[in-house]
Amino acid sequence: MLPEIEQLLILQDKDQHLRRLRAEIQKMPADAENAKGRLASITAAVASAKEEVTQNEIAIRSLELQIQTRRDTIVRLKTQQFETRKNDEFAALAHEVKRYEGDVSKLEDSEMELMEKGEILKAGLKEAQARLATTEADVKEELGKIKERYLNVKARIKEFETIRAGLAAKVDEDLLAGYDRILAGKGEVIAELNGHVCAGCHMRVTAATFNDARAERVITHCPNCGRIVYIAHWDD
Ligand SMILES: [Zn+2]
Repeated sequence: MLPEIEQLLILQDKDQHLRRLRAEIQKMPADAENAKGRLASITAAVASAKEEVTQNEIAIRSLELQIQTRRDTIVRLKTQQFETRKNDEFAALAHEVKRYEGDVSKLEDSEMELMEKGEILKAGLKEAQARLATTEADVKEELGKIKERYLNVKARIKEFETIRAGLAAKVDEDLLAGYDRILAGKGEVIAELNGHVCAGCHMRVTAATFNDARAERVITHCPNCGRIVYIAHWDD
């Protein structure tokens, strides 16, 4: 193997490490946003469950008020009933009392329904609050881990960048410029030739290219993708 290619393979190994680390660090903000989004959604669910409980209680109080008003009316009508001496008026008042009592009975049924609904709503709220508490703890832990990982990956990037710079300084300037150009475009610069096939683009190279790579006198590029090709093993 050409010593230059050996050099570049080591450099490429570091560059691939760097690329993986940079990709990892790049997706961290999205991971953090995701975790925060989960917390926001359960927080909203708790608020909405609370609001439902409150609205139901307001509806119950309104029914109680309506029941009380009718009960007061019934007391008033019964007093009038005892005070009257006219039979037709007594009967009319009795009819009114009965009507109001029917109303009260219906309102009480509705109130009972709302109270039962209230129990279900309160249970739902309690469940949502418990879920919020768990999520809060989970998200806090997750964000802590992301931050820790971020600092760790950042330190490793710096470390690899120093190593990379040291290696790059030893490579011929023109060769390095060519390498960097292919790296920026393809991500991978050096590709093995498997038989006559470039491992980078999976295309067959010409016999001339194959022979150049095999001769190991000059740096040889794949005519199709431009990557530097080399032959790791072959049988004579
Ligand atoms: Zn190729």
